[in-house]
Amino acid sequence: MELDSIECISCSDIMDEDEIHHHLHHSQFPSSKPHNNVVSSAIHPTTSVQELLECPVCTNSMYPPIHQCHNGHTLCSTCKVRVHNRCPTCRQELGDIRCLALEKVAESLELPCKYCSLGCPEIFPYYSKLKHEAICNFRPYSCPYAGSECLVVGDIPYLVSHLRDDHKVDMHLGCTFNHRYVKSNPREVENATWMLTVFNCFGQYFCLHFEAFQLGMAPVYMAFLRFMGDETDARSYSYSLEVGGNGRKIIWEGTPRSIRDSHRKVRDSHDGLIIQRNMALFFSGGDRNELKLRVTGRIWKEQQNLDGGVCIPNLCS
Ligand SMILES: [Zn+2]
Ligand SMILES: [Zn+2]
Ligand SMILES: [Zn+2]
Ligand SMILES: [Zn+2]
Repeated sequence: MELDSIECISCSDIMDEDEIHHHLHHSQFPSSKPHNNVVSSAIHPTTSVQELLECPVCTNSMYPPIHQCHNGHTLCSTCKVRVHNRCPTCRQELGDIRCLALEKVAESLELPCKYCSLGCPEIFPYYSKLKHEAICNFRPYSCPYAGSECLVVGDIPYLVSHLRDDHKVDMHLGCTFNHRYVKSNPREVENATWMLTVFNCFGQYFCLHFEAFQLGMAPVYMAFLRFMGDETDARSYSYSLEVGGNGRKIIWEGTPRSIRDSHRKVRDSHDGLIIQRNMALFFSGGDRNELKLRVTGRIWKEQQNLDGGVCIPNLCS
C-alpha cells in the first residue's frame, strides 16, 4: 500500500490536524466516458451559404484560395494538395481553378462566434471569425487535472463538478491552507503528482498542484497555483506559498496562472515554489526516509488588499 498523502489542516484552525490520506496519482484516470459538453454552433441564419463554404472532404470552413474542378465542385486548399489532382466528387482532373465567386460570398458573410451558445455575443466577418474563436473568452476550458490524458472540456462550473466527481480531488473552501505532503521512500521517486486541491474563494476556483520531477540533474518538488478562468482575471489574484522546517524556510509569492496554460507549460516555466529534494528532506526532519513537507499558503485579491494583507476568513468564501 502506498503511504503517500496530503494531510490537510483546516485554515480556520491550524491545530486541528485532520489527516486526509491520498494515494499517489499516476496517469490512471479512465476517460472512456463520453463527455458531451462541447457545445456546437447554435442558430446560423445563413446556413445554406455556410454549407456551401464547408469543404466536402474535411468539412472545415473554406478560406481563400478556394479551389474548384471543371465541373464546379469546390475544395479547400489543404485538401487540394492531398487529392493528387483528382476531384474527390467527380474524379475528374482538378486543375488549378480558383472559385473567386465563393470567396467573395464568404467575404460578405457575418456569422456569430461558434461559442455564442456559451455566451459570446460577438458577430464576425467570415474571414476573422476563426481567428476570434481561437482566443474567444467563452471557448471551453480543458480539464486542469494533471498526470492524466483527460480530454474533458467545458465551462468552469462543469469542470469543477467533473474534478470533484470524476477525479475525486480535494475541495477546499477558503483562501488559506496548510497542507502536509507526505511521501515514503522519497529518494526512489523521480516523477510524482499528488492529488490536486481545488480552492473555492472570492467566488472563484484555484488549483494547487504539487509534484516531484527532475529539473535538469536535480530532483525537485514544485508547488504552484492555477486559476480556473482567463488570464486577465487571473491577474487580479496573488498567492503565497511557504515551506520550511528546522529553522529555515522558503517563501514564494506569485500570480496564479490561468488554466488556459497547460499544467505542463506552467511547470516547465518554473512559475512556482521549487524546493530541491535535499532541502525538502531537510525541512522534513527525521531520518530523511520519509518526506513530510508542510506547505502553507494564502490567496488574495489584489484590489481588495487594503486591509494590510490580512485575510479575514469571513470574506474569503
Ligand atoms: Zn478540405
Ligand atoms: Zn468535380
Ligand atoms: Zn466568441
Ligand atoms: Zn478531467
